[in-house]
Amino acid sequence: MSTFTFSRERIDAEQLRSRLTDPAAGGYASFEGWVRNHNDGLPVRHLEYEAFEQLAVKEGERIVAEALARFGVEHAACVHRIGDLAIGEMAVWVGVSSRHRHEAFLACRYIIDEVKHRVPIWKKEHYGNGDSGWVNCERCATPWQEHRDGDQHAHRDADQHAHRDADQHAHRDGRGPEHSADQATAKPDYSRQMTLKEVGATGQAKLRASAVLVVGCGGLGVPVISYLAGAGIGRLGLLDSDRLEASNLHRQTLYSLGDVGQPKAELAAARVRALNPEVNVSVHAVRLEVGNAAELIAPYDLVVDCTDNFTTKFLLNDQCVHLGKPVIFASVYQYEGQLQVVRPDRDGACLRCVWPEATRDGLVGNCAEAGVLGPVPGVFGSLQAFEALKVLLDLPGQSGNAIVFLDLLTLSMSRVTARRASSCPQHAIARLSALPPAGDDVEVSYDSLDEACAAGFEVIDIREARECSELPIPCAQARHTPMAQLLYGQAPFVATGRSLLVCASGRRSLAAAQELRSRGQTAVYSLKGGISALADDQGRTWPAPRTTYL
Ligand SMILES: [Zn+2]
Repeated sequence: MSTFTFSRERIDAEQLRSRLTDPAAGGYASFEGWVRNHNDGLPVRHLEYEAFEQLAVKEGERIVAEALARFGVEHAACVHRIGDLAIGEMAVWVGVSSRHRHEAFLACRYIIDEVKHRVPIWKKEHYGNGDSGWVNCERCATPWQEHRDGDQHAHRDADQHAHRDADQHAHRDGRGPEHSADQATAKPDYSRQMTLKEVGATGQAKLRASAVLVVGCGGLGVPVISYLAGAGIGRLGLLDSDRLEASNLHRQTLYSLGDVGQPKAELAAARVRALNPEVNVSVHAVRLEVGNAAELIAPYDLVVDCTDNFTTKFLLNDQCVHLGKPVIFASVYQYEGQLQVVRPDRDGACLRCVWPEATRDGLVGNCAEAGVLGPVPGVFGSLQAFEALKVLLDLPGQSGNAIVFLDLLTLSMSRVTARRASSCPQHAIARLSALPPAGDDVEVSYDSLDEACAAGFEVIDIREARECSELPIPCAQARHTPMAQLLYGQAPFVATGRSLLVCASGRRSLAAAQELRSRGQTAVYSLKGGISALADDQGRTWPAPRTTYL
């Protein structure tokens, strides 16, 4: 006998129960769902149930099998009516027998909840006034409806606040009060995605508990923001310091001509509130910089890079490797683009494993110079939104270390695997930062590197070549050996005297000095604060490095 069946006849609970009896079972729990004479304030005269049977039976059997495995119960079954049902008739029956009562209750509850969320069954209600309407059963299980009876006033109030908020933004944005009375009562409805067995109630709860930072509210950011807000992400951070320009609108379809001149992050937040008042939105109308990146990223579970410049991409990469957060990168150039999911939380390859020095400026879409058709960032932003949902829902087919290239003119796609490089400087920093400190005296402070030389230090600039050309080290005697080469080069580093390692901020040099000390090189030191802590001839500190390394 199948554990999940449909019946066109009246359900005989007594007979079904007898099939679950077992001398080893000490408990039996059952649930019966009945047709009631009202729904949503309307009198209901009778009901029709319809199901996509083949699919529904498969899914129903899967749910019962899950309950058996999960709660270790002896027997379980579910029968659902289809066809025409009168008031008071049993629409669904669930029965579970088990050794003890506790797991019987849990399994019974699990089955009915999952059936409501996952099995494709539709109900047509025939109302007292002669009207009728199809109702997706999923709607019965959305959170505000579960609590509707006890909590009506509280929810009403909260909704009105949310809509008033959205209206205010709409007014300010010059869009006028077109939010109608219908919208004032409409609620977010995730039923279409929850019907997917990989999503269901559990997946929806995961999305509601997630926090995502979208860096860049432009061409890539617009689809990312729209789809994530629509999906019911719990908290969405929107980071962008730009104001909307008319030339953005052909690809940034979240905004209107009347919005030109307004800060994009604010505009996007207003649209998110109007689209889904359940999403908690945080606006970060700032530029992402070395100084603020860690603090901005830390509260989020996942970052989506929707920027169009390498500096920010590599800064995001470095911070997220350090913080162990997944980042979804995309870049577009004219008619093509690329997508890469970086998973430091799964020890995956990062941007610097592939491009240690960020030299591939060509592929980054500077839309003003290179030109772009609106749907190109639209496609890549949609892919990013999808990859974000894959990560958050832990869906099958995770991108792993793939870098996907897509040419929209030829619709040709290629992928390469990014290898986790042992020489990756960012991974080295992340790894070394985890080492225990190697002694109090490892960091030393000087106002100028000439002073350090005079004190007998050999100065070693461990930054990458690109950083050195951007900001040459202010010391004629300094030797240049990039960090990866210093630590992992062919010839092992041997200090001839006292060595002072120097980087941009003092973080890499400290990590490298600690690593070398742990290998027995006791005369290796780190310049505290790096080049940015040095003073120039006039006693002023050096400008913050433009480079994205820390
Ligand atoms: Zn790396």
